[in-house]
Amino acid sequence: VSTQLLYTVEEVRSAVAKARSAGRTIGCVPTMGALHAGHGALIDWSVEAGEFTVVTVFVNPIQFDRKEDYDAYAISLPADVDLCAARGAAVVFAPSVEGMYPEGFATAVEVPALAQNLCGAFRPGHFRGVATVVAKLLNIVQPQAAYFGEKDAQQLAIIRQMAADLNLPVRIVSVPTGREFDGLALSSRNRRLSEAERRIAPLLYQALDAGRRKIGNGSRDPAEVQRVVLTILEAEPAFRVEYLEVVDARRMQAVESIHEDVRIAAAAWLGSTRLIDNVLCRV
Ligand code: AMP
Repeated sequence: VSTQLLYTVEEVRSAVAKARSAGRTIGCVPTMGALHAGHGALIDWSVEAGEFTVVTVFVNPIQFDRKEDYDAYAISLPADVDLCAARGAAVVFAPSVEGMYPEGFATAVEVPALAQNLCGAFRPGHFRGVATVVAKLLNIVQPQAAYFGEKDAQQLAIIRQMAADLNLPVRIVSVPTGREFDGLALSSRNRRLSEAERRIAPLLYQALDAGRRKIGNGSRDPAEVQRVVLTILEAEPAFRVEYLEVVDARRMQAVESIHEDVRIAAAAWLGSTRLIDNVLCRV
């Protein structure tokens, strides 16, 4: 069975209804396209669970806080469809902006309590745009399970909270971060890195990993862990650190002492590319 490329809500609804009446469970993987092996893992999880997997490919304008970033966002639908087909997805849903936000669209979904810090502090309106589009996609596809990457751990926390608070009948599944051989988190934005930047980029993960070892060796002081990570990052002048925080793994809020599972989360600029990453530290 080949992968269907569908553009409208009606088409997706009808494909999903058909699969459901054939007894299939529905899985959804929301993406902005420019798919890579990190997205591939999310698709694999759904396909391997035996689900009728709907991959959504939509560069969501309302979640971009900078127009340059939206304009520069890579679009590669044919390659995306190939990747989805190779991974066994049933449907690629690639709606138009007008299809998602017709004239008169007026609703927003927000989880303010979890969007004040980390990326939320530096990207005004970003998580409102994310929560709104994910709510729409989940309502369009109505999957039993939806898959999100831990690379975007604050986004994941916000979506979990939204799904619980709004009683969305969907299981939110998180998938560990896929990485390059040298540790760099896979990201659609990596293709914007120059060769020189690409060589420096894995330092972000290496620094976070050093922070994780500090915790592994018994440190329970977030400031001390932060210092270890920052010292490594600041040794590379090309990096401009935007934030670096030790947060609880569930809600992604800053902790005063490390007595539960935490993530060390960072955003840093390399030239004009913004990289984010985080590592889970179990205690
Ligand atoms: P994006 O297309 O970047 O908006 O990402 C779509 C989904 O793929 C989100 O749930 C991301 O967290 C997830 N994702 C992106 N990069 C990775 C990665 N390196 N590992 C795992 N999941 C990822």
